[in-house]
Amino acid sequence: MDLTHYIGGEAVQGGDRFESRDPYRGDVVCTAPTASAAEVDAAVASARAAAPDVAGMPAYERAAILRRTADLVVERAAEIGEIMARETGKALGDAEGEVKRSMDTLTLSAEEAIRIEGTHVPLDGSAMGHGKMAFLMRFPVGVVGAITPFNAPFNLACHKLAPAFAAGNASIIKPPQQCPMVVQRLVELFFEAGLPRTFIQVIHGGAATGQALVDHRGVDMLTFTGSSRVGAEIRARAGLRPVTLELGGAGPTIVCEDADLDAIAPMLARNAVRLAGQSCISVQNIHVPRAMAETLGAKVAAEMEALTVGDPLAAGTDVGTLIDEAAAKRVAAWVDEAVGQGARLLAGGRREGAAYAPTLLTDVRPDMKVVCDEVFGPVASILAYDDLNEPVEQVTSSPFGLQCGVFTDSTERALWLARRLRTGGVIINGTSTWRTDQLAYGGVKDSGIGREGPRYAIHDMTEERLILFNY
Ligand code: NAD
Repeated sequence: MDLTHYIGGEAVQGGDRFESRDPYRGDVVCTAPTASAAEVDAAVASARAAAPDVAGMPAYERAAILRRTADLVVERAAEIGEIMARETGKALGDAEGEVKRSMDTLTLSAEEAIRIEGTHVPLDGSAMGHGKMAFLMRFPVGVVGAITPFNAPFNLACHKLAPAFAAGNASIIKPPQQCPMVVQRLVELFFEAGLPRTFIQVIHGGAATGQALVDHRGVDMLTFTGSSRVGAEIRARAGLRPVTLELGGAGPTIVCEDADLDAIAPMLARNAVRLAGQSCISVQNIHVPRAMAETLGAKVAAEMEALTVGDPLAAGTDVGTLIDEAAAKRVAAWVDEAVGQGARLLAGGRREGAAYAPTLLTDVRPDMKVVCDEVFGPVASILAYDDLNEPVEQVTSSPFGLQCGVFTDSTERALWLARRLRTGGVIINGTSTWRTDQLAYGGVKDSGIGREGPRYAIHDMTEERLILFNY
């Protein structure tokens, strides 16, 4: 399949092409063009031209298109799930689940589109304000530039395009190079649902295309999901324009002394390896009281060893491949380095092509890469603690601050932890791996700026205007 850009409602063939390859089978799934600076320019010009039409479309019509897109997403979940499994190596069940779950993102965006509210500001509290009234209204920013990652390519693109349109903006999306087709299918479903084709532009390419989009002053607001490194670069290039940055994490989960180890071991194992661990909230660091560390380690290791790794398209595969063989080699190198520094393998530690077996380490130190950096692979570590202040200190001093899981039966202890952990979210009696679209989702520190979830994204994709009446 040869993809094109979508600019100004037209399919644009473009020049230099790149390939998206199935990481398990090795064959080419599709090719796509790399947008030149002139094509980025054209996409921005088309979005700017469309912006007044998007803003002028009544909210009930925007909501209806979003609801129809949601219906199409459910209808086509199997087909799109298969494309995603082929492009990314993600297990088919996870891929289909991601597509179906996007129904929520679209439906909530439709609901929020019709309640973008303002505020009346009372002014007669001072003599100066007498005879005046004011209210604050929210208006679309105009053109939203979206850049998205490979790990949840369909849903994360949805988290940008749906609220951008719900808020009344035109948008431009640059999909990840590893899986351009699955993002293009999402945009095509919007078109099929009745979205005028000029309202969303798709430009393919890698870092240079992303940079050209970020640098273009015709883009009013930037929304990015990806690595902390690229997020920092985007923030530096954005100037004074608003940015939403959804970045990396190191998935901490704190197990307290009253946790039920039999109940939580399957959750910890599963949430460390879903999407082959390529999730920003994947369980990576499991903090556990020293006296329980060996028992929990054995239980999580047993759960991991029972999982089926391999062909993403085969029924019964729990863990597919990483995005490519280079990623699996990097993860293997980090695990080998940790073992060389004294860590002990409780499960996994094996690579086959782009696949890496679910892996559990113990006897790790906080300064090992597998602990303090984002592994982005199916690897977790057991970190034993003597005092609950230790994991609090480790989580809080980490450069990341996305979400933290906590397992305890004590409400008092849960609140004690929630007040101290400096992360964007604290999930009580769950792992770090939890997200639903009603939530304000996002991180602090190197994990990001701003929040997603349609309601919060719409807020960030609109700007407030004061309207003052003298009467
Ligand atoms: P990445 O940062 O390498 O790439 C993300 C996107 O940015 C891609 O489309 C890429 O082509 C583009 N890009 C690369 N360099 C660029 C540049 N200099 N300027 C502009 N665009 C550029 O990330 P990835 O490897 O695709 O995804 C994995 C990362 O995403 C992980 O760090 C993960 O934690 C993070 N992530 C975060 C969330 C969240 O919600 N917080 C969700 C999913 C993934």
